[in-house]
Amino acid sequence: MYSEELFNESKKYFPGGVNSPVRAFKPYPFFVKSAGGSKITDEDGKTYIDHCLAYGPLILGHANPKVVREVSNQLTIGTAYGAPTENEITLAKEVIDRIPSAEMVRFCNSGTEATMSAIRLARGFTGRDKIVKFEGAYHGAHDYVLVKGGSGAATLPDSPGIPEDTTKNTLSVPFNDEEALTELIEKEGENIACIIMEVVMGNVGCIEPKPGFLEFIRKITEENNIVLIFDEVITGFRASRGGAQEYYGVTPDLTTLGKIVGGGLPMGAFCGKKEIMELIAPQGPVYQAGTFSGNPISVQAGISTMAQLDDSFYKELERKGNFLRGNIQSIIDDEGYNVQPVGLASMFQIYFNPAPVYNYADAQESDRKIFLRYFKTLLKEGIFIPPSQFECNFISNAHSMEDLQKTSDAIELGLGAAFK
Ligand code: PLP
Repeated sequence: MYSEELFNESKKYFPGGVNSPVRAFKPYPFFVKSAGGSKITDEDGKTYIDHCLAYGPLILGHANPKVVREVSNQLTIGTAYGAPTENEITLAKEVIDRIPSAEMVRFCNSGTEATMSAIRLARGFTGRDKIVKFEGAYHGAHDYVLVKGGSGAATLPDSPGIPEDTTKNTLSVPFNDEEALTELIEKEGENIACIIMEVVMGNVGCIEPKPGFLEFIRKITEENNIVLIFDEVITGFRASRGGAQEYYGVTPDLTTLGKIVGGGLPMGAFCGKKEIMELIAPQGPVYQAGTFSGNPISVQAGISTMAQLDDSFYKELERKGNFLRGNIQSIIDDEGYNVQPVGLASMFQIYFNPAPVYNYADAQESDRKIFLRYFKTLLKEGIFIPPSQFECNFISNAHSMEDLQKTSDAIELGLGAAFK
């Protein structure tokens, strides 16, 4: 069946025809038949250069041979044990060696679980109820953080089904706004358990912290005994070997991970200072559990992935990122487009916005109709990026320079079509 027919069929079984909202776009999303390296092929026989990369996990591209081989071996000796394995220790050591804030780790099944558990832990540690997030930040699909959320939630009103009682303790302030945060902490500081933040706001596009903003947050949280949580579900093992905290040189108390940590399989993790992590059950009283936590297949995929992520890997990926972002900048300069190219390391996006974007409100000013014309042209040209202005695009090491040149050429056409 072709994608269009499959989508019509799918709508009978799944709300909106998909199993996660960001996957739906008009008139219908392509249905995937297979993928390998930098490419993804749909049921209509068309192959795309993939810059969505499953929304971030696939830093090695699709079906990396080492990951496939080692995961396949693991499959033959069991898929879930309900008992610990040596491989969990191996992966934990990798996390602790790389992520500056990590002294102890707990593996779970998704980024959503990781942030939910880290917030519970911060509340248990401080004995305080309130939490602070930034407007437009996305920390997964659980109730406490679906307030002024990013990702798919950035395109929709706040979700019904979440009692006010659940979110009354969730406070939000604009990103990159020291004054707003200072004011909030002056008023509520004694009741605030944690600040949870995406260091780079990857769910409203790609917004970097202003110079000094992270240092300011680290200082004010320390002064007020507030737990600082960096949600590095996107940036962990992507912004650099040690994530965004290594990239910017600021270390939080707790870190949440997902996506790359499971090497393309479902997985999440949270980690941080021993003093706080020791409160997790069964060592401490803060409950956290999961049938599939530390799942041997996901853990093996994580290990097989980490084994390939060394310093030279990140240098090469940075070079590719700079090449693509450089090309985008030249196209924009040559044609005088009034847009904002953004990105770092292996992340990129273009805001269809005449002014620089520092926070959610700025991002919301971007022209989604123009973005859609750009997106559609890229798709036609065989380049797959997430179908939203409020997501980030990715590069893997499987992308060749030829791929990136093709992407650049398509972006040139896409910008032309967008502003026609
Ligand atoms: N935190 C951030 C920063 C994310 O980008 C995401 C997902 O995109 C999550 C948390 C939730 O992760 P998951 O979709 O694995 O539950």
